Amino acid sequence: MIERFDLLVIGGGSGGLAHAQRAAEYGVNAAVVEYAPLGGTCVNVGCVPKKVMWYAAHHAHQIHHAADYGYELSVGGHDWNALKSGRDSYVSRLNGIYSNNLDKRGVTHIKGAARFIDAHTVAVDDTEYQAERIVIASGGRPVVPDIPGAELGITSDGFFELKERPERVLIVGSGYIAVELAGIFNGLGSKTNVVVRKDSVLRDFDKMLSSELMDAMRNSGIVLDTGVIPQSLRKTGAGLLLHAADGREFGPYDTVVWAIGRAPNTESLDVGKASVSLDKRGFVPTDELQQTNVENIYALGDVTGRAALTPVAIAAGRRLADRLYGGMDGRHLDYRLIPTVVFSHPTIGTVGMTEEEARAEYGDNIKVYSTGFTPMYYALGEDKQRSAMKLITTGSDERVVGCHVFGEGADEMMQGFAVAMRMGATKKDFDDTVAIHPTSAEEVVTMR
Ligand code: FAD
Ligand code: NDP
Repeated sequence: MIERFDLLVIGGGSGGLAHAQRAAEYGVNAAVVEYAPLGGTCVNVGCVPKKVMWYAAHHAHQIHHAADYGYELSVGGHDWNALKSGRDSYVSRLNGIYSNNLDKRGVTHIKGAARFIDAHTVAVDDTEYQAERIVIASGGRPVVPDIPGAELGITSDGFFELKERPERVLIVGSGYIAVELAGIFNGLGSKTNVVVRKDSVLRDFDKMLSSELMDAMRNSGIVLDTGVIPQSLRKTGAGLLLHAADGREFGPYDTVVWAIGRAPNTESLDVGKASVSLDKRGFVPTDELQQTNVENIYALGDVTGRAALTPVAIAAGRRLADRLYGGMDGRHLDYRLIPTVVFSHPTIGTVGMTEEEARAEYGDNIKVYSTGFTPMYYALGEDKQRSAMKLITTGSDERVVGCHVFGEGADEMMQGFAVAMRMGATKKDFDDTVAIHPTSAEEVVTMR
C-alpha cells in the first residue's frame, strides 16, 4: 500500500523542518524524510557546534585579557574532549527537541533516504510515498578537492569529530568556514596555517572587511599564505605535507582541513524521474516563489545554491508554507539585504552591497563613510585589536545600501541595522539616532 500525504519534504534540516512545521500548523498532512539526526547541517555539523567552539576560543581570548582587569589567573589547560562531550550532548538535546516539535504538530518523520519515482512519488528503501506537493530541502555537503592524497585531510564534518586538539593544523580555503575554523584552532592553541589560492580571504566581502581580518589573523599568530593552489597531500613520518602548484611545500601538519565550499545533495535523489532540472553544479534552480521547473515540486535552502545560511532556509520554508497553505498570495523571500555574520576572531557583521558592488550599480552616485578605532575593551592592556566600519550610501538622500562592521561585538550589532536598512534608512536617520555610550555600535551612528 502506498502511503499518501498532502506534503512530502525531503530533508529534515533548517529549511525542510521550518516548511513542514509551518504547513502542519495550517492543517496540512505533512511528512519529512530524513536519514540523519534531525536538524540538518546547522544543528549537527554547522552553526550550532561551530558557535560552541567559537565561544571556547572566545574564552581563551578573555582569559588572556583578564590580567589587564586585575585578575591573577592561571590556566591549568584545556580539555578538548570534555568540550566535545558537552557540545555533543547539547546537539543531542536539540535533536530530541526537533523530534518533539514534529510530533507536536503531527508531522510524520520517515527515517531513510528519499529518491524520486515520479513527480508525485518518492521511495524510501522499499516503501513508496505519494504527495500532492514535494519540497526538496536536501542541503549540501563539504567539497573535497580532486587531488592525490585528498582523503588524508578532513572537512568541517571531520572537525566536529576531533577528540583532541591537533598541534599543527592547515586549513585550505578562504571562505566562512576557513576563517572561522582558523580562529577556533588558533584560539585554542593549535599552530594554525591557512592557505588561500588567490590573494585574500573572504573575496566576496567588502575589501575593508577582508583586509582587516587578514591583518587580525596574522597579528593573532595565524600564518596566512596566499596564491597557494593545492596539488597533492602526502603523509610522511613527520606529518602531512601539502604540495602547491608553484612547487612550494607546506607542513608538516597533524591535521589538514579542506574548507573550499559545499556541493548540493542531489545526486542520489534521482530527480530525473520527476523531470526536475538541475544546474551544471547540481543545484536545483527555482523561481522567486521557490518553484522548480515542475509545477508541484519546490526547493529551498542550500540545495538551491543561493545564500547558504540557516535563517535564509528557514525564511524561505516558512514563506512558502504561508503562500501555499496560509492564504498569503505572493508571499516569498526577498533575497536582497540578507545580514550575515562571520564568526572569526573578532567577528564580521555585514548587510547590503560591498563598495565595489555599489559602484558597479550606482557609479559615482555613492558616498562612503568609514572609521577605525580601538574598542574600550582593549583600553587597559597591550593588545589593541582594531575595529573598523563602513557605510555605503547612494542618492541625494544618502540611502544606506551597505553596512560593514569588523570587530568586537559586530555579530550582535548587525541585526538591528539590517532592520533599519530594510526600512530604507538614510544617513540622516543614522545621524539622528542618539548613540548608546560607551559601545562600539555607537560608531555606526556617529560616522562623518
Ligand atoms: P541542511 O541543514 O543541510 O539539511 C538538509 C538535510 O537533508 C540533511 O539533514 C540531510 O541529511 C538531508 N538529506 C539529504 N539528502 C537526503 C535524502 N535523499 N533523503 C532524506 N534526507 C536527505 N549558517 C548560518 O546562518 N550561520 C552560521 O553560523 C553557520 N555556520 C555554519 C558552519 C558550518 C561548519 C557549516 C557547514 C554551515 C554553516 N552554516 C551557517 C550554513 C547552514 O548550516 C546551512 O545554510 C543550513 O543548514 C541549510 O539548511 P538546509 O535545510 O538547506 O540544509
Ligand atoms: P565558501 O563558499 O564560503 O568559500 C569557499 C572558498 O574556497 C571559495 O570561495 C574559494 O575562494 C575557495 N576555493 C574553492 N575551491 C578551491 C580549491 N579547489 N582550492 C582552494 N580554494 C578553493 O565555502 P565554505 O565551505 O567556507 O562555506 C560554505 C557556505 O556555508 C558559506 O558560503 C556560507 O554560506 C555557509 N556558512 C555560513 C557561516 C556563517 O553564517 N557564519 C559559517 C560557515 C558556513 P577563492 O575563489 O577566493 O579561492
